[in-house]
Amino acid sequence: MVHSLATVVELVNTSPSTGGEEGLAGLAELQAFVESRQISGVSRLTARDLGQVRMVREAFHRVFTATDQPSAVRTLNALLSETRITPRLTEHDGHPLHVHYFAADAALAEHVAADCGVALAHLLVEGEAERLRTCAAPDCDRVFVDESRNRSRVYCDSRTCGNRMHVAAYRARRRA
Ligand SMILES: [Zn+2]
Ligand SMILES: [Zn+2]
Repeated sequence: MVHSLATVVELVNTSPSTGGEEGLAGLAELQAFVESRQISGVSRLTARDLGQVRMVREAFHRVFTATDQPSAVRTLNALLSETRITPRLTEHDGHPLHVHYFAADAALAEHVAADCGVALAHLLVEGEAERLRTCAAPDCDRVFVDESRNRSRVYCDSRTCGNRMHVAAYRARRRA
């Protein structure tokens, strides 16, 4: 689940709608994403995979940026309704026993929609929709899942955006 949440965050943050460039510009980038997230059982990728993954990515982005829980639920349900979900216990590549939710013959987009969709569904069921955040830095719209104990995280990355904003606040105070 934790791994799937990290995967969906990394996927959404490749989207140009999070403030950067298109992170999935071509098949090489898509392949790099598959490898960095250790997505198993993926066959040869095609332009069709790229288009489908980008569509799933935008649906997940809408879940993160939903203004309230009902709209997050509607968006996620719309995605899940088009996704075959078949839970299956598995051990592979040295990972401990865990559950895969994607159908055995799923293409990459459906694979990601199933596993990440189920992880987000559990998060919403636990009443934790507010943990799905967008970075508070003015020029950054990257998403993240707030894992902090007091749910106080506001920046996508404390070393980059958080640090940047602290420096800016410090300078503003000095000028005042
Ligand atoms: Zn696995
Ligand atoms: Zn940020």
